[in-house]
Amino acid sequence: MKVGIIGGGVAGLSIGIYLQKNGFDTEVFERHSVAGGLCTGWRRGDYTFNGCMHWLLGSGEGVSFHTFWKEILDLSQFHFVYHEERVRFDVPGLLDRHGRSVFFFYNDINRFEEYLLDLAPEDGKMIRLWMNQVRYVGKHLHCLPPTFYDEGFFASVRRNAPLVKLLPMLFFMHKWSKVTNYQFSERFKNPFLRKAITLLYEKEMRMPILFFVQCYADKRVAGYPIGSSLLFSQRLEASYLQHGGKLSSGIGVDSIETKDGSAVALRLEDGTRSCCDYVVSTADWRWSVFHALGGRYLTKAQSLLENPPKESIFYSFCILYLGVDLEMKDFPHFVRYALDRPILSPDGTSYERLEVHLYNYDPTLAPAGKVTMAVDFQTREGEFWICLRKNDYSQYLQKKREFTQAVLAELEKKMAVLSGHIEVTDLTTPASYYRYTGNTLGSSQGWTPQDNVLRRLPVTRNVPGLDNVFFAGHWLEAGGGLPIALKTARDVAWVISKKENGKFVV
Ligand SMILES: Cc1cc2nc3c(=O)[nH]c(=O)nc-3n(C[C@H](O)[C@H](O)[C@H](O)COP(=O)(O)OP(=O)(O)OC[C@H]3O[C@@H](n4cnc5c(N)ncnc54)[C@H](O)[C@@H]3O)c2cc1C
Repeated sequence: MKVGIIGGGVAGLSIGIYLQKNGFDTEVFERHSVAGGLCTGWRRGDYTFNGCMHWLLGSGEGVSFHTFWKEILDLSQFHFVYHEERVRFDVPGLLDRHGRSVFFFYNDINRFEEYLLDLAPEDGKMIRLWMNQVRYVGKHLHCLPPTFYDEGFFASVRRNAPLVKLLPMLFFMHKWSKVTNYQFSERFKNPFLRKAITLLYEKEMRMPILFFVQCYADKRVAGYPIGSSLLFSQRLEASYLQHGGKLSSGIGVDSIETKDGSAVALRLEDGTRSCCDYVVSTADWRWSVFHALGGRYLTKAQSLLENPPKESIFYSFCILYLGVDLEMKDFPHFVRYALDRPILSPDGTSYERLEVHLYNYDPTLAPAGKVTMAVDFQTREGEFWICLRKNDYSQYLQKKREFTQAVLAELEKKMAVLSGHIEVTDLTTPASYYRYTGNTLGSSQGWTPQDNVLRRLPVTRNVPGLDNVFFAGHWLEAGGGLPIALKTARDVAWVISKKENGKFVV
């Protein structure tokens, strides 16, 4: 039984492995010359740039995603790094009670609590409340995410019975999902801490997300793999091939051919067709629905997503990558520098801070004595970059050069040591992510989570009106990311295997 999988990102390769294990004959069609999708990296001269992850949820034991990754990949091949600090950053215009202007966001909850209590003893009650929320999440991590399948009422009730224990978690999520870190900060008295809480993330953040992310870091279940995203994807691809899968890279799919309520083949961009019994698309959701299926199979709610507002699409990035001929071993791995005056991007976004990642903990990315760096800029102006590249390529290159120069000028003010040591620069834009992966507006993680983190999107893994076509990947759950790519892939493989074989083997 043949399954045609559109897209060789993490979701596509994961489905392929699961289905190969269950006796299916799969072929992944990947438009780009290499697999991996957004989870990638590339070489420039002596340097390898990490194009994606800083943390992989499930790298460590204690969370369901660890079990899922181990089903498709030998995690013991990787060495994961767990940083002591998530980030340190300037709190502009304020000093803490020891006269320092830098805030340290520690990953270990006890250490962070101790640090905060020393910083703001007058806020002891709120600090303990905050850390206790993170500890509360930690108690439930082992059974998250819950898995729901279409397996019939009684079987489903029996399998999910233990999840009753998670009910208080729903109330917890509901209560906190209304609060952002900006609002939470107002409950604190200490001005330095109050300001610091607003700066914990690049943007305003819902508190449950903050609690979960802190909890993952505290429990050491979300680490960075030495060798970066590139090695991770290469090993996932190797696992797929070892399981007997067929990867056709450099071959784009144009459309899904249907007949009498079923898909019968994939039509490829080179004009050929490939017959399939099942089709799974992990490519951009809007492309899959409105282009590959011609907008013929969708619900009314889904049809409203054809031209979604840019705010509903998870931000994209401009990232300035640097290859530096310095070792920089004693520098922190992630710093947010407050700028004296904002940098204006060519796309109109204004930035008040520089987000600087230093990969001095990954010796595989640069020769001895050298290091790679990345300066991140989130943007929702993907359309600007994508259209500029398409309509006026030389202007696009010119704007990239101008932005690179503006960033380097500010960066060298903050890190004077870099002066004269930057050997390579490479700026990615939303047009890069769009060109290599087809994600709408160059989105890095699919849809933006809505105000209510519990509210479901109208996107579904099933396609209304077609019985053998499914969707998976980061567009299936708001907030996306690698765990969602994996989980949605596993779910689809489960459905297909149960339907054809009556069981799912991992
Ligand atoms: C800078 C950055 C940092 C990130 N950091 C993290 C992190 O630390 N942790 C984390 O969990 N997540 C992170 N993410 C998000 C994560 O990388 C993505 O959510 C995840 O890789 C999505 O995987 P996917 O397989 O669903 O989709 P994609 O990676 O988008 O894969 C889809 C694939 O489909 C292919 N395709 C598209 N159209 C066609 C077609 N017509 N025919 C054939 N193939 C096609 C594309 O080329 C692509 O390879 C980050 C993303 C970015 C950009």
